[in-house]
Amino acid sequence: MPSTGIIYSRAFLKHDTGKDHPERGARLIAIVKALKESSLIERAELKLVKPIRLDPEKLLYVHSPALIEKVEKASVKGGYLDSDTVTSPDSFNVALLAVGGVFRAGDLVMDGKLTNAFCLIRPPGHHATRDEAMGFCLFNNAALLAAHLLKDKGLRRVLIVDWDVHHGNGTQDLFYQSREVLYFSVHQDGRTIYPGTGSFDEVGEGEGEGFNINLPLPPGVGDDVYLYALSEILPPIVEAYAPEFIVASVGFDAHRQDQLGALKLSAQGYYEIAKLVVELAHRHCSGRLVAVLEGGYNLKYIPKCAANTIAAFAGHPPPFREAATHTQPSVKSYVDGLLRRIKTVLSPYWPLKND
Ligand SMILES: [Zn+2]
Repeated sequence: MPSTGIIYSRAFLKHDTGKDHPERGARLIAIVKALKESSLIERAELKLVKPIRLDPEKLLYVHSPALIEKVEKASVKGGYLDSDTVTSPDSFNVALLAVGGVFRAGDLVMDGKLTNAFCLIRPPGHHATRDEAMGFCLFNNAALLAAHLLKDKGLRRVLIVDWDVHHGNGTQDLFYQSREVLYFSVHQDGRTIYPGTGSFDEVGEGEGEGFNINLPLPPGVGDDVYLYALSEILPPIVEAYAPEFIVASVGFDAHRQDQLGALKLSAQGYYEIAKLVVELAHRHCSGRLVAVLEGGYNLKYIPKCAANTIAAFAGHPPPFREAATHTQPSVKSYVDGLLRRIKTVLSPYWPLKND
């Protein structure tokens, strides 16, 4: 019987960013501990899958030779790629193992051996562009999986849904002119947070015009408004696009206690988001869904968010309860206006109507 795969290896801890860096190995240790303590691994019959190191040639699917060389060189001794993106002597190999794990998850789902999978990997990826490693990201895990599905598996429509609190500027850039990958990102408004991109009028260009969708939410949005906004925009687009596979970039930094973000989701909210996307996958692409871990930095709450997300993937109730969060009326009315403007901008491409 098909099931949910968890891709994990202790080797992911060897990408050493230093003990004070927000993106550190303790994040994965805390998540794995929560999965064990909630007994979700046994109850949901999760399949633990070991990653296999990627052939570095495959990085060329989305990255330039110059970037690959730069990351490999920085990793020889350990060095900075930008002011907050650091490497250690194992980082290049760990990054290859992470992407290799993501490819394996994609292959197992394509072969029907897994229904879906969550890749508990690091370093994260969605800020990495063709030429630059940035924002804690070395190689773009989600984009590489989408490229693998197009080039090696013959797919023609891959949806990437990104619900990290930050906009995935790297993923957007890589597929900005493509309609074979639809990039959909819901994130905190770039005027209030790194990396500054992700406005709703960035819709793609050329062949890809209309196939890049941003839903930038203002600080203070809680579960209620987040889920409302997402359900107004995402399902009609997914239905019209009819993806053959869904790749999810999942960050837990939209949680109300995250140090870097200013959105106000709860662990319950994370369960609901995952459930919505899992249902879309079942409705439109036989359940095919692979998630990759992006950000999320509060060591007390990311394990709860992750376990709840994985529970939704496996069709189980959330193991961690946390009261749903609410949004102040002024923020809510701003979002109502925002949704009207977004629907207007996207209506030439998608069946979105203002009523
Ligand atoms: Zn993030």
